[in-house]
Amino acid sequence: MAAPVADNTAGTPQQTRRPSAHDLEVLSRQLGRPVRDVVEIPARCVCGNPLVAATAPRLSTGTPFPTTFYLTHPVITSAVSRLEAAGLMNDMNDRLADDESLAAAYRGAHDAYLAARKEIGQRAGTGDVPEIDGVSAGGMPTRVKCLHVLVGQSLAAGPGVNPLGDEALEAIKEWWTKDRCYCDGAWDTTGEAPSKDLSRHGPQGLPELVGRPAPVRRSAADEASASNLGEDQ
Ligand SMILES: [Zn+2]
Repeated sequence: MAAPVADNTAGTPQQTRRPSAHDLEVLSRQLGRPVRDVVEIPARCVCGNPLVAATAPRLSTGTPFPTTFYLTHPVITSAVSRLEAAGLMNDMNDRLADDESLAAAYRGAHDAYLAARKEIGQRAGTGDVPEIDGVSAGGMPTRVKCLHVLVGQSLAAGPGVNPLGDEALEAIKEWWTKDRCYCDGAWDTTGEAPSKDLSRHGPQGLPELVGRPAPVRRSAADEASASNLGEDQ
């Protein structure tokens, strides 16, 4: 059982962030698809299984990739999907428009996202990725378009960084809390992991391989046009 970093966080200590072969297999099983370019496991279940995968800001294919924190645990992703289906994002967007202190804290979450991505890129050796300068994910800094992104950041960074991610975590506590393991039966553990089945198809980036579409954008200008299409996580 992994020791918690601090109270009320599932964040992973730096020395255990590097994904093991077992972590990558678990991620593939959680997502039902192979993963590529996962460079860190920034949050773990109390049992040690990954909750969030961190993807390098530039994929091995060379493609810039802004969505650094990807929620992978099926129990959490489906709980967050319930919140989305219930309309929580509309409520959050209304409040962002009315509440300047919330809006400022949310802009801070955007800045923290970019800073964390830069650090992850440095540790992963991908260097600067100018194509996605200033582009975070999930609708930040002014909108909420994907709660999974915000929850992924909150789990990775700990409480107090993304106020709306923290709020979403609080709202799913009847289905998931950081203190308990919900892994048993949450994904198929029999047979070969998806990465083994599909690796012959060659390197592919995470965005094409996960259930929820993730943006792969060549520039901030593309982000600006794509953001109108509601295609974030
Ligand atoms: Zn677990």
